[in-house]
Amino acid sequence: MATRNTVSKADYYEVLGVTREASEAELKAAYRKLAMKYHPDRNPGDPKAEERFKETSEAYGVLSDAEKRAAYDRYGHASTSTGFNGGSPFGDATDLGDIFGDLFGEMFGGGGQRRGSRVQRGEDLRYDITIEFEDAVFGKETEIKVRRRENCAACRGTGTSTGRGPSVCATCQGRGQLRYQQGFFSVARACSNCGGSGTVITDPCTTCRGETRVVREFKMNVKVPAGVEDGTRIRYSGEGESGRFGGPRGDLYVVLTVRPHDFFERDGYDLHCVVPISFPQAALGAEIQIPALDGEVTLRVPEGTQSGKEFRIRNHGVPHLNESGRGDLVVEVMVQTPKKLSRTQRELVRQLAESMEVENKPASRNMLNKMKDLFS
Ligand code: ZN
Repeated sequence: MATRNTVSKADYYEVLGVTREASEAELKAAYRKLAMKYHPDRNPGDPKAEERFKETSEAYGVLSDAEKRAAYDRYGHASTSTGFNGGSPFGDATDLGDIFGDLFGEMFGGGGQRRGSRVQRGEDLRYDITIEFEDAVFGKETEIKVRRRENCAACRGTGTSTGRGPSVCATCQGRGQLRYQQGFFSVARACSNCGGSGTVITDPCTTCRGETRVVREFKMNVKVPAGVEDGTRIRYSGEGESGRFGGPRGDLYVVLTVRPHDFFERDGYDLHCVVPISFPQAALGAEIQIPALDGEVTLRVPEGTQSGKEFRIRNHGVPHLNESGRGDLVVEVMVQTPKKLSRTQRELVRQLAESMEVENKPASRNMLNKMKDLFS
């Protein structure tokens, strides 16, 4: 048994900066912190950081494994050196692949697949539907047909014709990576035979060709709640694609596009519309029927109403999403000038103009005042 490195090696617990009683979670947290700090990608060309990185990885590789940790506690570094577990000449690094896959996959945005495991979460799906303006206001239930990959029934998601699942890659012995010495460091590279997964399919399923999933169409009811807006995403958890090799399903997102309305516009939960009224209606006052989305409502326009004036009709807007209550209907009136007049109408307007001129004369001291308020 080799004991030559016991002198030069630092204590694994000291390397990670934890006590000998540290829990698994504490070990992982400590390692994660140090690994982030000393990772070669973050310290390019810094051999000291690289060394520290290697030390922490090695320390964690041993201490995170209950058996190896117990051995280390009893025998120290001798327990991990060559030959003790019948391990490789580069030190027993069996679990490092998993650790790296686990930690660095997420930390450095590496490939989504975890090294050492083929099981993956299924992809999220997006399904777009276009709904009418009224459906967004009042809600709607509609059926959609989604094509998604589901577990292959023929091989029960194993991808193999025998149903036994992939077998261990002979090249890397299932580690997913090959380690070899390069100078002082041991370097890991993804195994090219199995693509880093540690397993190979030698007898692919004839139905899914080893993909483990097949495309199926399924129908589903989508409930569009009242009050949704253009661009709303509805998430259906676990309704996305199945994961490969029996992995969990992804999610399904239904994304809504709302068709615009000819007459109404939305402003949050309020509905806006512009209603033309005639000059006599504006001058004398009138009752106007507004075709609101929930039936006709009567708007009382008081006499002397100006063009552009807005009237708020309470509770005739859009229902609040997932809550009680609703917005208002806001009606903007636009006073219209007649484009064509009959001879009689023209005469009446002329008479009106004459009478207003007479009335206005004492008040209109100058042009500007007259411009400001023509009908006061
Ligand atoms: Zn299959």
